[in-house]
Amino acid sequence: MKIRTLALVVTGSVAVLGASLGLRGDAETVSQTVVALDSVRLLTTLSVLAHDSMEGRAAGTEGGARARRFLAGRLAEARIEPLGTNFDAAFELPEGRGTGVNLVALLPGAVSSPYIVLSAHYDHVGVRDGQIYNGADDNASGTAMALEIARVLRSEPAHHPVILVLFDAEEGGLRGARHFVAEPPVPLADIALNVNLDMVARAEGVLWAGGAFHTPALRPVLESVADRAPLALRLGHDRPDAPEGDDWTTQSDHGAFHAAGIPFVYFGVEDHPDYHRPTDDFEAVNPADFVGAARTVLAALRALDAALPLPPPEAPR
Ligand SMILES: [Zn+2]
Repeated sequence: MKIRTLALVVTGSVAVLGASLGLRGDAETVSQTVVALDSVRLLTTLSVLAHDSMEGRAAGTEGGARARRFLAGRLAEARIEPLGTNFDAAFELPEGRGTGVNLVALLPGAVSSPYIVLSAHYDHVGVRDGQIYNGADDNASGTAMALEIARVLRSEPAHHPVILVLFDAEEGGLRGARHFVAEPPVPLADIALNVNLDMVARAEGVLWAGGAFHTPALRPVLESVADRAPLALRLGHDRPDAPEGDDWTTQSDHGAFHAAGIPFVYFGVEDHPDYHRPTDDFEAVNPADFVGAARTVLAALRALDAALPLPPPEAPR
């Protein structure tokens, strides 16, 4: 109840914010399907997840459970169906830290397989030394974006079925993603691609797409999206020979898919001074950047959907 009241309050202020920035759904740079993306709902979802009442959404905590209830409500509201009998896919956290829970939904396509897995982790690092780490960019942003894109796909389906997974316990070991890959709800061989969103709000004009180094067939698809994206979409951060810290291949949940031989596209922004600090707050998000990134990712998902099947991935170099 508290959360619902909060959402209403936030919706109002975000709508005003959106109007003042001139955000609207008729960008000429992107395809017609992108118009259905609701920028106010997108920002509202982020702001609710990044609210102090979620206590930093650490896996196995009450704040994490609260975030999950909010997300399940958002899914139900959008009439998105679970992949199994319900959304929850639970797994054991290490060191007696309780239970992690992924949320798994299915957006049927025109064909029954192969699948695209659209993912984002909703957990963050919780409360430390009495300070709440709200994780607005990491990764309330990706969670809100994945949800909003799923809502669009619910009304305008992709050709391929899309499995939406909101991962728990990414922080400290990609545990939700590893569990998904270890006990997949569909055969791994039927998953053509993972599209993973982690830290997608604070683009400052530049959004990165990783994965094409490992699966070169992705490159022309992503480049065609970059040509018409509302912000700069750059390919990279995926080369093993990059300087320390520049290769993000294993840095988020897509790493678990990559380890299983599944091609991935990772969308994210450069690290910023608020990364894993209590200052990673909603207030630091530039709505125009975030909405631009969401439109770009939706356009990319459409293009990738149209480009499947990709040639099999090359052996790691
Ligand atoms: Zn993250």
